[in-house]
Amino acid sequence: MAVKYTPEPFRIKSVERIKMLTRSEREQKIAAANYNLFGLRGEDCYIDLLTDSGTNAMSVEQWAGVMRGDEAYAGATSYYKLEAAGRDIFGYGYIQPVHQGRAAEKVLMPLLLGKGKYAISNMFFDTTRAHVELAGARALDCVVAAAKNPSVRAPFKGNMDVAQMEKLINEYGAENIGMVVLTVTNNSAGGQPVSMQNFREVSAVCKKYSIPLNIDAARYAENAFFIKRDEKEFQNTPIKEIIRQMFSYGDMFTMSAKKDSIVNMGGLLGVKEAESPLVLKIKANCISYEGFYTYGGLSGREMEALAIGLYEGIDEDFLRYRIGQLEYLAGRLDDAGIAYQSPVGGHGVFVDAKAMFPHIPYSEFPAQALAIELYKEAGIRSCDIGSYMLGNDPDTGAQLEADFEFTRLAIPRRVYTQAHFDIMAEALISIKAASGKIKRGYRIVWEPPILRHFQARLEPISG
Ligand SMILES: *Cc1c(COP(=O)(O)O)cnc(C)c1O
Repeated sequence: MAVKYTPEPFRIKSVERIKMLTRSEREQKIAAANYNLFGLRGEDCYIDLLTDSGTNAMSVEQWAGVMRGDEAYAGATSYYKLEAAGRDIFGYGYIQPVHQGRAAEKVLMPLLLGKGKYAISNMFFDTTRAHVELAGARALDCVVAAAKNPSVRAPFKGNMDVAQMEKLINEYGAENIGMVVLTVTNNSAGGQPVSMQNFREVSAVCKKYSIPLNIDAARYAENAFFIKRDEKEFQNTPIKEIIRQMFSYGDMFTMSAKKDSIVNMGGLLGVKEAESPLVLKIKANCISYEGFYTYGGLSGREMEALAIGLYEGIDEDFLRYRIGQLEYLAGRLDDAGIAYQSPVGGHGVFVDAKAMFPHIPYSEFPAQALAIELYKEAGIRSCDIGSYMLGNDPDTGAQLEADFEFTRLAIPRRVYTQAHFDIMAEALISIKAASGKIKRGYRIVWEPPILRHFQARLEPISG
């Protein structure tokens, strides 16, 4: 049953040429990159789906905003414009610009977490987990069970398992839980959304035990769209009101603006109560790490583009088209019997490489093997979200087995057209048709101790 492509609610005013290499040129390029997709040059990728972070196309309004940016060191008009947009959309009193999402984490986490403390999340994104640990605390994941089964087509697979969360609070002691983090959408589970009902329940438990609730809000707009689509109560509620209600359940948020806010660089840190002692500490940390609190590591022109992008990112026509693109690609994969984390989430299609290459064990990285095939087949750059990314046990050094072996095709916003999506589908279909020919996976010949997937060198296993 074919899913129709949702037409773009924009037209194209400026274009960027992309190169088409031959298959044998691509085979040479990926070998020269040691079979690591991060080692490729961007110009050697025909369709670059490595990430949806900072790869968005800005609008004419945003580019006009770049020209209007006020570069005053303190109190720039672009800062006040950004603050007003943040207050209006999220309903929080204090809005702090920072240079990207992990900067917000670096500024906030040490203020609420330290040695002996824990943070609980529906699933930590890797930089968020890193900043919990850098603050001396430990990160506990607590996602609903359905998230772990890619073929279970349930709505809101990004939800927190609230009963399990309360169990963890009692087990570790409420006084030792520095914060709860609700990640929307749940990136690590495949861009799966969190329901408003789950927001309510998580917030009620946090209030019961007086634990601050932080929203990791990179994809707040896509999450709101899913609430409108799938939670009956919100069918007729404007997206902006849904966002306001989502944020009403939190105490603070950290946000990478490189995703739903449609800019190439930026982030925000928001606190509901503008007059709280926490805000004074945030300003102090920000001045040390990021820059004076009215710019936080961003130039005036970047703040101006972000203030505009915040509104463009919540436009319902845009969100319908955005999620529509993902549904279109997922529909083509359904027709071809290709498995992925379903229903498709907000920012990418997470193809189940275990199902594509059932004969390749996790220790030979099936999702990395599929990413390499996609590049050879059509010049598509994707990435492994599986055992290759997960790495080794820090104590024993043994390769860990991930819950999933996903190859992620992350979709940049307002960048690719229907024809590009057809190329993605057709590349996967032809790889599946010849999947028996890919007999073995890859081995690592060199790796750094942490976050190895960015830099490791691999080679194909023959035989
Ligand atoms: C991208 C992301 C971050 C980190 O943001 P950066 O802008 O890459 O530093 C944190 N949390 C989630 C859920 C993200 O997707």
